[in-house]
Amino acid sequence: MTTATLALRDVVKRFQGVVALDGVSLEVAEGEIVGLIGPNGSGKTTLLNIASGVNRPTEGRLVVGGVDATGRRPNQVAKLGVGRTFQQIRLFDDMTVHDNVLVGAVARGEDRDHVAPLLARLNLAAVADRVAVTLSYGDQRRVEIARALAGSPRFLLLDEPAAGMNESESDALLATIQAIREEQGCAVLIVDHDLRLMMRLCDRIHVLAEGRTICEGTPDKVRADPLVIEAYLGSAGAPAEPEPAGGQAS
Ligand code: ADP
Ligand code: MG
Repeated sequence: MTTATLALRDVVKRFQGVVALDGVSLEVAEGEIVGLIGPNGSGKTTLLNIASGVNRPTEGRLVVGGVDATGRRPNQVAKLGVGRTFQQIRLFDDMTVHDNVLVGAVARGEDRDHVAPLLARLNLAAVADRVAVTLSYGDQRRVEIARALAGSPRFLLLDEPAAGMNESESDALLATIQAIREEQGCAVLIVDHDLRLMMRLCDRIHVLAEGRTICEGTPDKVRADPLVIEAYLGSAGAPAEPEPAGGQAS
């Protein structure tokens, strides 16, 4: 059995009275693209926070590449090969695109030569010297991805990377993530409300509702699942239907 997996085992996360996650298990194996979907407040960001050490699980384990990383700090989890982006973009607002990505490389002991190819890969070479926060949201999200990749992660966690993107930007993002998987060989765990993107991109999809797993499997299986349809009818519409352009749930 390969140990090149990121695994969450029976994770419970409580915030005072709120149960954000209630016994969720999820594995991402080397080279896989796994999607995480669910209505707002279902625990998706909390799950990424636990997988990257930002939050400590109340119960359950985080295991990265065979190492029990439960309770480790974000910096230590990153050293095990976990890179991430944030739902609320977190770029250094007085720094250029290039320097934001450089920070990601230096923080993980990577060479600065690492940065230029990543800017090219994310289609950011032309804006490398711009102050990052002056870019469109779509571009800023790609800067965040480049910064996460600059640390050469084995597992890349993306929290709503297509938020604020139009259809053609989201199509380009799909191609970019596929290329990243091919070229860097890293696994991807992606949260997004753009179901048109998710159904085409992901090998497997994991569906949360109110902190619990209600379905997991191939995109075709998930799309046809009555529980999934019901969960979505209560919020963002059935997952078989692409969301309207610009329709952005937070
Ligand atoms: P999603 O990303 O699926 O929209 P979240 O993981 O952000 O959901 O939130 C899941 C639940 O946990 C929500 O009810 C949210 O209000 C709650 N929650 C998340 N973070 C905190 C926190 N730091 N303190 C208190 N409650 C939180
Ligand atoms: Mg979220």
